[in-house]
Amino acid sequence: MSAEEGPRAAGSEARGARPACAGRDGRTPGASRAGHEARTAPRRLVVVLHDAAPATWAGCERLRRCVHAVAPVALTWLVVPRRHGAPPDARFEAALDAARSRGDELALHGWTHRDDADGGRPGGPIDYARRRWYTAGEGEFAALSQSAASERLRLGRQWFEACGWPLAGFVAPAWLMSPGTWDALDALGFEYTCTLSRLVALPSRVGLASQSIVYSTRAAWRRALSLGWNAALARAQRTRALLRFELHPGDAEHAAVRRSWMRLLERALREREAVTLQEAARELQVVPAQAGIHA
Ligand SMILES: [Zn+2]
Repeated sequence: MSAEEGPRAAGSEARGARPACAGRDGRTPGASRAGHEARTAPRRLVVVLHDAAPATWAGCERLRRCVHAVAPVALTWLVVPRRHGAPPDARFEAALDAARSRGDELALHGWTHRDDADGGRPGGPIDYARRRWYTAGEGEFAALSQSAASERLRLGRQWFEACGWPLAGFVAPAWLMSPGTWDALDALGFEYTCTLSRLVALPSRVGLASQSIVYSTRAAWRRALSLGWNAALARAQRTRALLRFELHPGDAEHAAVRRSWMRLLERALREREAVTLQEAARELQVVPAQAGIHA
């Protein structure tokens, strides 16, 4: 289970700590004027399923069934080709083929999902908090140089090509991206990425404010906090152009958490259309003036 979830994750950015996925100048792209876009852009929601990998696939499938019990929406799967060094898996690839044939999008979510930059050794207390406490060592792109990030992104792109799948988006584990990762994305032709609080079109870095609805399931107290936090977050973002449900396999396992996001999703679908992240990003490319936010 990765640690990119929960009120702590969301709060760390809201409290003014270094943003999870700051741009190369250290700012989160488009850190101002949030909310302006809501008056003009069409209202959408995305359902993003994290950590798709052979070892997590049973949980992913369970999560998908729960989403589709609410409505048969198109999903965006965040795929990890070699999670924790696991070998290729033909059944996993066939399952992703099936998802694509249903109209889902596949996006790249790292190569191994493991933070082993600098031998995995954090560079100081803040780096330690960010890379160990917040992500439990899963922030693969938190500290990579541009060349190291490029190498992993290229491996991911090659795997997508070998499988015959298009690839438009990259979302880093825990949304943690080093400056080198931002530079690598610019060079490799990705159409979009996400931070915890924004969808960011590339290479323009036009950003759309959308704070992730994301649950923490690692402990009972985290789950309890997540319920209230995410209900409030969904209410607070009712007028925003885009609402993001960022779900992990564990979110289908705990009844209270499952009921919470299913209820929020059902409500949101009464007033929003579900699209994939790529579709939302392409709308952002077409109407950046409506988004009103630029990195
Ligand atoms: Zn992840």
